Formats: sequence, C-alpha cells, structure tokens
Amino acid sequence: MSNMLEIIVKKRDKQDLTQAEISFWIKELVANRVPDYQSSALLMAIVLNGLNEQETAWLTHEMMNSGDVVDLSSIKGMTNDKHSTGGVGDKTSLVLAPIVAACGGKVAKMSGRGLGHTGGTIDKLESFPGFSTEITSQQFAHLVNTNGLAIMGQSQNLVPADKMLYALRDVTGTVPAIPLIASSIMSKKLAAGSDAILLDVKFGDGAFMKDVDHARELAYAMISIGKHANKNTIAILSDMNQPLGFAIGNALEVKEAIATLKGEGPEDLTNLCVEAASLMLVQSKHFNTISEAKEAVYRVLKDGSALSKFKTFIEAQGGDVKYVDDISLLPKSQHVTPFLATSSGFIKTIEAMPLGLGATLLGAGRLKKDDILKFGVGFVLKAKVGDEVKIDDVICEIHHDDPIPEDVFTKLSDAIVISPSPVSSPILIHEICE
Ligand code: URA
Repeated sequence: MSNMLEIIVKKRDKQDLTQAEISFWIKELVANRVPDYQSSALLMAIVLNGLNEQETAWLTHEMMNSGDVVDLSSIKGMTNDKHSTGGVGDKTSLVLAPIVAACGGKVAKMSGRGLGHTGGTIDKLESFPGFSTEITSQQFAHLVNTNGLAIMGQSQNLVPADKMLYALRDVTGTVPAIPLIASSIMSKKLAAGSDAILLDVKFGDGAFMKDVDHARELAYAMISIGKHANKNTIAILSDMNQPLGFAIGNALEVKEAIATLKGEGPEDLTNLCVEAASLMLVQSKHFNTISEAKEAVYRVLKDGSALSKFKTFIEAQGGDVKYVDDISLLPKSQHVTPFLATSSGFIKTIEAMPLGLGATLLGAGRLKKDDILKFGVGFVLKAKVGDEVKIDDVICEIHHDDPIPEDVFTKLSDAIVISPSPVSSPILIHEICE
C-alpha cells in the first residue's frame, strides 16, 4: 500500500515510481483524499527530476481513466483526431476535418474553447447561429458514421484528474514540464477515443513551446504515450512565430476557413491543412502514401466536395448553411480601423502572442470565464513576414465594436516590426515526427 509522503520522497530522490504508486496518486487525488500541498510537492519533484517514458505512459493512462472514456466502437472504420497545442489564427481544424471526411476519412474530434491568447475551435464554430457541440456520444458516433465528421465539446467528466492537476500547476509554477504537458494533452486525446492522433505541435512566440527543440521533445513524449496506448500518433512541428493565415478572431477565421475550403485561402494555412489532412488519411489507412493522399486532398478542394462536407457538418450540428453560402451574413464588427505601416521596408516580425492578446482585448476571447464573445471582432493582417510594405500601407485591419483600447495599438506596434533590409519568409512546417 502506497502513501503520498513516500511517493514524494522517492521522486525527490530521483527514483522511478511504480505503476501502483502513480495509480494510487491519481485515484486518491480524484477522490479528494490528497491535500493540495502533497500533489503540489510531487508536481514540483516531477518538474525538477522528470518522469521516464514508462512513468509518463502510466500517468497518462491513470489520468485518462479518471473520468469518461468515449466509446467510438460503433463507428465503422478507423477514426482520426487532430490536436494543435494552441496558436493564434489557427483555424486548421475547420478546414482539414471536412477535407479528410470528403476523402473518405472519419474525423471524430473533441474540441475546446479559447484559452488565454489562443482561440478555440468551438468559439469559432459558434459564429454560426444555432451551431452546437453539445451532443451526446451516440449522436457524435452517428454523425461521424453518416457524414464523416463531427465535433463534440469536452464532457465535464473528461479527465477530471487533469482539471485538478492543471489548476494546481497553474498556481505552483509547475506547468512547464514535458511529461506533465504531454500526459495532460494525451490523456484527453486518448479519452476522446480515436484510433489515430495527429498532433500539431507549435513553436514560437505565440506557442507554449518557444523553440523547435522543446517542441520536438514534447512531440516525441506524446508519440511515446500514443505508442504505449497502441494509437497511431504522428506530430507536425509548425512555426507559430507569426499568426497562421491572415485572420484572427472567431467569425473572421471562419470566413478564412471557408475561403480555404474553396481553394482561395492563404498559402500558409492551405499548405498546413493539405499536409495535415494527407498525414491523417495515411494514418487511418485510406491511402498508402502521402502523395496519393495529397492528390485526393487537392481534388476535394477543387471539386467542391470538401466545402459540401463542411456545409453538411454545420447543418447537422444545428447551424444554418446559408451563412456558408453567403459569408457576408456571418457576424461582423461595427467598425474597421486600418493600422498603417510607419516606415517602408520588409515585415520582420508579426509576433503572434501580442496579436492574440490584442484580439482578446477587443472581445474575441475571454478575459473572465463568463465573458460573452464578440464574434465579429479581431484582426485581418494585410501582410506577412517577408512582405514588402510602403509607409502608410494598411498592414492590419482592426475589426472592433467598442473604442479601441490604447493597449491594442501598443501591442500592434510592438508586434509588427518593419526592417529596412529584405527578410526571408519563415518555413511553416519544420518537420514531421513519428
Ligand atoms: N495544454 C494542455 O492541455 N495541458 C498542458 O499541460 C499544457 C497545454
């Protein structure tokens, strides 16, 4: 029989924990029998001394089983899920899920709301009046079977151990530890029940991982967890030093996603979606090679079937497709104010983090848990890193309902830096890890 003091002392002294000890901690935690100071002490010992691959896999397994585990066995064929570690302007799920479904795949995705400076897929989709992700597991499975895709909100009882640990980590300086981040993300992915998991691990100023080496370390930690759980898990490492695409803000991003499904989207977003969708289709064995999958992906973008899938998906979850046919009906801000270049030259940086925070200040995200979102507000960039601009060119549109807070202008001025000499555009997809 384990006890918390012994477990903490073991990890403090750099010893490996057994499965029984990890299981004891998580079960007792969820039963509210571990005082916060003991879990916090253990978390700090883990931050300092780490967990090996096996310990991390056990921790993930225990966390996954601390609440509901979605049963997708009634879905015919292999199911795909995709997870991004969070970014600014990241609307890839809205684009690649219908692409994968149009190519014959089954996307069963559980999504969340915005967090801090990053937007959430559910918030974006709620730009469609009536759209709901509050569906039962049975409805979810039925929609995936009939239409090839569905998005469900996270149930209250999905991985309660993560909710409890995250709340402690947030206030005890114990968030940034790869085994803790990896087990937190993967426990939720494994509980969501899909057969194959594609991870988009972002790095850069707008991401959790500030550089590619840490992103790679996190990616391999999550892949190892996936392998222990017999799930096909692959990760893309992608650059989040500037926002993805041009649009930041809920309805603005939905409009850009629809344009991308019509083959008229920004190059970076399109490339990432094509790459990710192709990987997912190979993961779920719909194609043997990436090049075959890519061919199919380009075909469904061209012939309109990816867009049709998106429409059926919106309609099936209560949204009104006339908003897809006529995007001018989607929520709009009351005002659009141009933000001008203060010198001529080449865009050197468009830091994602301040833009994400700025969009939140305009009302695109929540500052407090119960804040009501303003769906039409945000930013539309008119240039990306490497582009040439002239003084007084509009480099960003500010879409707003209320007077623009001074802080938003400060954030934009700090984020967007113009260099007198040419700047090369960054490579978006750094590598694929498997
Ligand atoms: N996202 C998560 O879900 N968990 C973490 O620990 C960090 C980011």
